[in-house]
Amino acid sequence: MFDKILIANRGEIALRVVRACREMGVKSVAVHSTADSDAMHVRMADEAICIGPPSSAQSYLSFASIIAACEITGAQAVHPGYGFLSENAAFVQALEDHDIKFIGPTAADIWTMGDKITAKDTMKALGVPCVPGSAGGVPTLEDAQRIGAEVGYPVIIKATAGGGGRGMKVAQTAADMEQAFHSARAEGKAAFGNDEVYIEKYLTTPRHIEIQVFGDGKGNAVHLGERDCSLQRRHQKVLEEAPGPCITPELRERIGKVCSDAVAKINYAGAGTIEFLFENDEFYFIEMNTRLQVEHPVTEAIFGIDLVREQLRVASGMPLSFTQDELVINGHSIEVRINAEKLPDFRPCPGQITQFHAPGGLGVRMDSALYDGYRIPPYYDSLIGKLIVHGRDRPEALARLERALGELIVDGVDTTIPLFHALLAEEAVQTGDYNIHWLEHWLKENLA
Ligand code: ADP
Repeated sequence: MFDKILIANRGEIALRVVRACREMGVKSVAVHSTADSDAMHVRMADEAICIGPPSSAQSYLSFASIIAACEITGAQAVHPGYGFLSENAAFVQALEDHDIKFIGPTAADIWTMGDKITAKDTMKALGVPCVPGSAGGVPTLEDAQRIGAEVGYPVIIKATAGGGGRGMKVAQTAADMEQAFHSARAEGKAAFGNDEVYIEKYLTTPRHIEIQVFGDGKGNAVHLGERDCSLQRRHQKVLEEAPGPCITPELRERIGKVCSDAVAKINYAGAGTIEFLFENDEFYFIEMNTRLQVEHPVTEAIFGIDLVREQLRVASGMPLSFTQDELVINGHSIEVRINAEKLPDFRPCPGQITQFHAPGGLGVRMDSALYDGYRIPPYYDSLIGKLIVHGRDRPEALARLERALGELIVDGVDTTIPLFHALLAEEAVQTGDYNIHWLEHWLKENLA
């Protein structure tokens, strides 16, 4: 096991990794921009080092600063968290060139899965079912129109380099194609420097189901069931749960095995998530995330496993601490993402926290880097915390979530907490009967 690792991230996920390190007897190094000198992850890590000015490009995304921080502190490995450099193959290569271990998969696997067209081709070849659509990239509008007619409208045009819900445009009919094609390309170019796009059938009533996988890098892999992340706004997850309300043990076994076999075949190392749309009992692959997900705690809750600990074990050459047979689901877990945003338009709302009180009690976990008096800087993501509950079954988890939300106090800035109070009163949320488009409709009717 490593003696010391550096965490190339901030906020709740940096704190999350510090906690795992402390329990494992591994020393942790926090990095921070000048805007984050007073951040909780800086206070909680064993060491902290400033890596640049507020702008992410010059701090949390700077290869040189992070590698220099490793050299100065003697950190042997880097945990990237999620976002920032967590899926940057060039960064992984740069670390390797400096003999620093990346806690995650190889640069090659990250590159393969980071390009969505290549990822889809790879998964198809590994026997994973995919959304019907174009075979590879679609270079011209004429191609797009031909494929649209073949696949059948509605279709979605997606940037191969897209992520975070960006670079995707829906064409409801052939008349929309020109506009959607050009705007998906432009968004891909502007946000990711790559204007290549591909086309998929646009599914109208799917759920978002993702499978957590874990490989040891030596051809062994397991799956840790699914998470249902169907409550989304602008293709971004708002609430996640495990197990999925409409996934039977048979469906789980079937898709789980397809996924663990696929990653075993490529000697995948570490945590990964294979994302699917799920409609009429069929799974359709959309993308793979080669990192820890924001919503990983719901999986940890139902399996009683620390996924960050397993990431460190695998990266240091140790085996996983469990086998597939030992993974038994216990109860139900739900996570809500608390953002510093002002409703109804979800405008980021940075500022000073005048009071913070985290809920507690049986089955409640609050992953947050907030504290009384903390000033949320305006430069980064608006996620300020995740409230995760665990109950014996879904109704118990829902009741616990409502109770815990009632205890949670975040004063000084606007947050998405009222949204969850309102959602929990909805019958569709109580029964779990919704698809990925439900929340957008609900927001239009209830918040507009
Ligand atoms: P990103 O990398 O930006 O997260 P994904 O490919 O994972 O993009 O898609 C994010 C979300 O976009 C999905 O969870 C789903 O809500 C929607 N989406 C993506 N592909 C389709 C599709 N073919 N049909 C309907 N919705 C889709």
